Order: sequence, then C-alpha cells, then structure tokens
Amino acid sequence: MGLNFFKEYSIPKKIFILNNEHIQNIKEVKEVSVYLSQGDNLCNPVVSKGEKVSAKQIIGEPLNDLSCFVHSPINGVVKEIKDFINSKGEKTYVLTIEATEDTFEEIKTEIVYSSKDEAYELIKRLGIMNYEKNLASLYSDLKSVGNNDKLFIRAYDFEPNFLDIILSEENIKGLKEAIKVLKTITKEITFVVAKNSNIKNKVENIAKENGVNLLTIGKSVPVGAEKRFIKTNSKINLINLKALISLGNCIMSKGPSVDETISLTAFGISDNRVINVLNGTKIIDIISALNIDESKISKVVQGGALSGEAMISLDSVIQKGYRALILLDEKLSKEKNENNCIRCGKCARVCPQKLYPNKLVVYGRKRDFENFLKFKGEECINCGLCSYVCPSNISLSKSISTAKVVLKNRK
Ligand code: SF4
Ligand code: SF4
Repeated sequence: MGLNFFKEYSIPKKIFILNNEHIQNIKEVKEVSVYLSQGDNLCNPVVSKGEKVSAKQIIGEPLNDLSCFVHSPINGVVKEIKDFINSKGEKTYVLTIEATEDTFEEIKTEIVYSSKDEAYELIKRLGIMNYEKNLASLYSDLKSVGNNDKLFIRAYDFEPNFLDIILSEENIKGLKEAIKVLKTITKEITFVVAKNSNIKNKVENIAKENGVNLLTIGKSVPVGAEKRFIKTNSKINLINLKALISLGNCIMSKGPSVDETISLTAFGISDNRVINVLNGTKIIDIISALNIDESKISKVVQGGALSGEAMISLDSVIQKGYRALILLDEKLSKEKNENNCIRCGKCARVCPQKLYPNKLVVYGRKRDFENFLKFKGEECINCGLCSYVCPSNISLSKSISTAKVVLKNRK
C-alpha cells in the first residue's frame, strides 16, 4: 500500500499513557542518514565518502557562530554525501553511513563549564539541539541570553507518553547538572509548569532544591504561544526541558547524544510504545524492528496529533528533536469531506493566538493577502487546534500555513 502523505487525518481522542517500562531500544541499523542541517543548525561535512567513522565522532562542523557539531550515531563507512536544500532554501548536506560490525569506541568530551564561554563551548561541542516550531538549537537560544536576562524553561507541553519518562530518576540527576551549566549563563532561571500537569510536583521539588524560580500557568499551551501566558517586561528566552535533560545526560555520560526518545502510537496497527532510536534511522527500519505489519500503514505522522506533519515516505529518517510518530491505518488516514462553515465560532474560541481562523482560511484560499495580514494571519503558530475542533472538518491550520508559505515566497 502506498503512503498517503497529505496532512488531513483523524486521530481518535483516546490517549495512551506509557511509562518507563515501555521504553524499547532500537539500535540495530544497517545504515543511517544524518542531516547536517537540523533546525537552524548548519554544518559542513568534515569527513569524506569512503571514510571510516566511529560512533559519536564529529562528522559536521558548525558553519556559523550559532550552530553546533553533528556526530555520527554509529561505527561505519560514509557511503554517500548528498547536497540538500533545507526549508529556508539554504544549501546543506545529508550523509549516509553504512554500519560496520567493529567495536564501539567511546568518545569522551571534556566537561568544563565554570564560565559562561566554557558553558557555550560545551553545549556547542555536545551538539545539543532543541528542535521546535522555529527550529532553533539550544546553543543558539542560549547564545543570545545576557547575564541579567530571564531564562524560562518550558516544563509543559509534553506528549502524555513522556510525562513519566521525562522526569525519571536518571533524568533528574542529569537535569541538576544542566541547571549548573545554565547558572553560569544567567541567575534568573524559571521553570514554567502547567497547573494540571502530572509532573508539576516533581518540577516544584527540582526548582526548590536547585534555586530555580517556578511559574505555574493555568493550562498547557501550544509551543510558540507562550508570550500570552508569561508576563514579563523583558525579552522571553525560552528553552525546552527535554533539551535540558539531553544536556544533563550528555554531561553524565561525558559524550554527545546520538539518539532520540520518541512515543510511537499505532492506531489499530500495533501496540503503542516509547522507542529509543538512533538519529538518522529510517522509519521503515523501526517498523521492521518492531515486527509491525507494513501493509497496514497508510500514513505516518511526525509530531503530535494536532500539529504533526504527514511524512512523505517510509524511507524518511528520524532527526534530532523528533518526539512522536503516529501510524495510521487506511480508515483513519482517509481525508474527510469538508462542509461549509456554520459560523459556530469554535475555531476562534480555541485559538491561542486569538485569531479568526475561519476568516483567515477564506482570505488565504482567495490569496487576498491584504485581508489575511489585516487579520494577523502571519501570527498563526499552526498548532492545529482550530482544525481539531471544527465540526465542518475544514482544514483550517493547513490552509493558513499554505497561505503563509505563498505569502513568504511573494515577498
Ligand atoms: S492553527 Fe488555528 S488555532 Fe492554532 S494559531 Fe493558527 S489559527 Fe489559531
Ligand atoms: S469551527 Fe469550523 S464551522 Fe465553526 S466557525 Fe470555525 S471554521 Fe466555521
């Protein structure tokens, strides 16, 4: 069965909550494809075709001052280096590395962070990424933080599947080390946690024990909409708890991280689980390692249920910062017919940016950019909430994001 890669899909409202015991490691791969541009991180290859590389060896060096290093996830031989144009039109590279069977050679990084400059250098060398809507890296996010600036740590907005895993005992140990690194950059650090979150108490304790402030917000907020909930007169510097945990884990293991922990929800296809998988692993290799029947998969969505993106092929690879994969069968991946807008106003009520999605869709589809801009279409963060609640099945979020792309290309 071919993969249906259009965005529209319907996700059942049932939520699966997994815990630590469900983590499954998938580390056996024949080859990986590693992008030297992941988010804002742009690198040049420092290895050549045919060269042997070790796991955790540097394969990409920063192209600019705001990028960090990229490491090989496996021992292997560089099979191919291909040019690749990222979504911003910048030229970068993708490296395919074929696995070899030789012993794993552990690469240790010198862990020094007694000054701000040393802390930046450490994060850059460990290659910690913080993939978000705006595709920024943790390194570039922190680089712009001054001594007296406020730094917020987003400790909400996690997949339900991550709530138990994200603050496991091991991760809390790493987190304490990561907070020490942050304190060389600024003393004004605040955890932002949602009132109804299952990790609220744990976050409160960590804040208390490590001299970090705590800000409790009323509810979970989609990534990108924080400005409406964090009240401060100064610039909002926001980093993700998951990126911070990655930093802590790298410090504890004295090496860069080359894997990602992802929740895999497979509606009607297989059991749900959390997988730990090497950066650059193909989706098809995950499916075969888990003995999932490929013929049942009609769509693969990367990201959460509301704002995830359908993937174009089962040969697509896991990249840094991926958090969730959703597999859908034919029934759930079918596009629903759109009906006319009944002006119920639900889309406007859920929009965290206080927009009128129903109006934006009309203007966006007509390419009436004057009105699209007048009604602040560019402020849409594509959270997907409007599409989710619309009783007429109008693909609001996707239409608005398409209009934004067309508008951007016209400028
Ligand atoms: S996707 Fe919809 S709900 Fe989300 S910000 Fe955009 S218009 Fe608002
Ligand atoms: S939720 Fe759908 S039907 Fe209701 S006003 Fe918005 S676009 Fe129209």
